[in-house]
Amino acid sequence: MTAMVKAEGVHKSFGPVEVLKGIDLEVAPREVFCLIGPSGSGKSTFLRCINHLEKINAGRLYVDGDLVGYRQQGNKLYELRDREVAAQRRDIGMVFQRFNLFPHMTAVENVMEAPVQVKRESKAVARERALKLLDRVGLADKAGNYPAQLSGGQQQRVAIARALAMEPKLMLFDEPTSALDPELVGDVLDVMRDLAESGMTMIVVTHEMGFAREVGDALVFMDDGAVVETGHPREVLTNPQHERTKSFLSKVL
Ligand code: ADP
Ligand code: MG
Repeated sequence: MTAMVKAEGVHKSFGPVEVLKGIDLEVAPREVFCLIGPSGSGKSTFLRCINHLEKINAGRLYVDGDLVGYRQQGNKLYELRDREVAAQRRDIGMVFQRFNLFPHMTAVENVMEAPVQVKRESKAVARERALKLLDRVGLADKAGNYPAQLSGGQQQRVAIARALAMEPKLMLFDEPTSALDPELVGDVLDVMRDLAESGMTMIVVTHEMGFAREVGDALVFMDDGAVVETGHPREVLTNPQHERTKSFLSKVL
């Protein structure tokens, strides 16, 4: 079975600063893969590399068997053309801490935008799917609202619907609930749980250890640009093997 994501010795530097120091990991199809670690450990950078927002400096990164950003011929790597990169990105949905909705568009227009602009889908088809997705994230009655008329949790659910509108095979979540008031976190996590149950492959950077324990299939603790510990979430959370994992968990649990 082809891994949905495979990282082999992934390195990433910004100038002289090495932020990812050789990441090796594998995410299976349908897996909910949780990534935890202190601020600055490289979690966002890793997600951004998967989604072509950053380029790796060394190693190999594959999504669904395809090298991210490159084509390999013999021993040589060739950079993909812009349209080939766009095709790879289309299959990956990403949800950020800040929801980044288009402020001048209603919820349903936000969800329709990429299918219409990127996939040249008809507005009627895109709207129908967008309304279904808004219903799926519990916002059927908010389709006509602008982002400013929605709570943070509702905006984040629109952002999830927007990512799903492109029918991705992989969803990346970068601390999707960290910017929310505590009482709004649960609704967003419920949507993510439903998505996990539907079989979506998900990489979730989160501080929500309850979600990781209950929904996650795998948990990775990252520190200082490296994977420190990997295992089943319940194992790692209740019986961490490394001092750095123990120390981090004692602060967040
Ligand atoms: P995390 O998401 O785990 O908090 P990040 O991946 O955001 O960590 O950041 C890891 C390190 O990389 C930090 O030291 C951060 O300052 C640095 N970094 C991230 N993006 C850039 C950038 N575009 N230019 C320079 N340094 C960056
Ligand atoms: Mg981050």
